[in-house]
Amino acid sequence: MQNAHPAWSFVEAKKNAFEALSDRIWDVPELGFQEHRAAAEHAAMLAEQGFRVSTGVAGMPTAVVGEAGAGGPVIAILGEFDALPGLSQHAGAAEPRPLEANGHGHGCGHNLLGAGAMLAAVAVADWLAANGVPGRVRYLGCPAEENGGGKLFLVREGAFDDVDVAVSWHPAPFCGVNKAAALANVQVDFDFTGRASHAAAAPHLGRSALDAVELMNVGVNYMREHMPADARIHYAVLDAGGVAPNVVQAQAKVRYVVRARELPDVLTLVARVVRVAEGAALMTGTTMRHKVIAGMSNLLANTPLERAMQDNLLRLGPPPFDDADRDFARQIQTTLKPEDIAATFRRFGLPVRADVPLCDMIAPLEGPPPTTMGSTDVGDVSWVVPTVQARGATCAVGTPGHSWQMTAQGKAPAAHKGMVHVAKVMAATAIDVIGDAALLAAARADHAERTQAAPYRCPIDADVPPALDMALGR
Ligand SMILES: [Zn+2]
Repeated sequence: MQNAHPAWSFVEAKKNAFEALSDRIWDVPELGFQEHRAAAEHAAMLAEQGFRVSTGVAGMPTAVVGEAGAGGPVIAILGEFDALPGLSQHAGAAEPRPLEANGHGHGCGHNLLGAGAMLAAVAVADWLAANGVPGRVRYLGCPAEENGGGKLFLVREGAFDDVDVAVSWHPAPFCGVNKAAALANVQVDFDFTGRASHAAAAPHLGRSALDAVELMNVGVNYMREHMPADARIHYAVLDAGGVAPNVVQAQAKVRYVVRARELPDVLTLVARVVRVAEGAALMTGTTMRHKVIAGMSNLLANTPLERAMQDNLLRLGPPPFDDADRDFARQIQTTLKPEDIAATFRRFGLPVRADVPLCDMIAPLEGPPPTTMGSTDVGDVSWVVPTVQARGATCAVGTPGHSWQMTAQGKAPAAHKGMVHVAKVMAATAIDVIGDAALLAAARADHAERTQAAPYRCPIDADVPPALDMALGR
């Protein structure tokens, strides 16, 4: 290829092994902080590729870090490998068909995310070695992106203290640079304790913890009118106190996620939610304990890195999907609503087009930011080092995140092609940074400007440990 970036051939040379790694991770979907098999696979692959490997980093048994190279700038490439509950699904089936009832599944494509990021890191390492260039590449296998915020703990532990630039990606329907829009959030568990009693014979002796949870939720629902328009509050009842209506529930537990565009707004809202919980305890004669279990910062952009990544995307063009890939994507699209498909175009700032089963272009860098957004623990990384992320096209246009459709496509040839494609983009961007002191200086200056007014503030207290057992909220 005349216009080929030096990174691409290094990615091509090893792609088969990493497609296979992605498939093996897909086969063993594990929830956040429980990714023991995935972490072992990642550690083994890093060792096989000659990386210096550390495991169990930052108090997280499933955090894996590998480094290669010597001297020079340090480029961090971030991977993930956690799955989601309830999204078990047969690969290649264009209809909901779980492999295991209520089983886990890779409904966010993190099997691809981790393997693709490591493929990029290995390509950078191989390029450094082949060219005798000083520089280091550090692959970080980051646990529990979905709800545990593993990267925050890596940041807190200092895993990025000597890093110059961080690069990552996420599977998506279109290729492009990720627009840095994500909400900060804090997760809090609320435990209510009342008094058990016979619900008919001695109700006056009981105090219901479930009543307290219900009243707390009603109270928070009344807050919604009086909070910033882009703030979000959601809850899940983790423990409703039991299954016997004739027992007054002595214990109940609810988990809250509070999100807003900026961290100070999140913390203000959390304080208000805590007051509502105290009110619910007062009203019901119960007691309440609350515990922050995780947090994430909003994402900071980095214009020079985004431009460098966009140049690499445009140089490479869209992934080489073929007719068979498009046929399967069309089958998936028949399970989607037209508004799912239209929403995908809008999220990438693209005009809505008919009959586009798979990405056939590169989304423009300019354009309006997304109007709706979630959160990511890459946010915390972006506050401490210049960070850029790609969106790599791995699934049918319209595929919602966290869906059985995403799980179904996770081992498809199109997913492999999209993963290899984005690995080329990430490796090329990392190599550009290593080889171009002016680009690195511009990235640093951009980051310094964005953090000058308000430096990084960790969303959770220094003594909050990783919630290794998310189900119990410990
Ligand atoms: Zn994800």
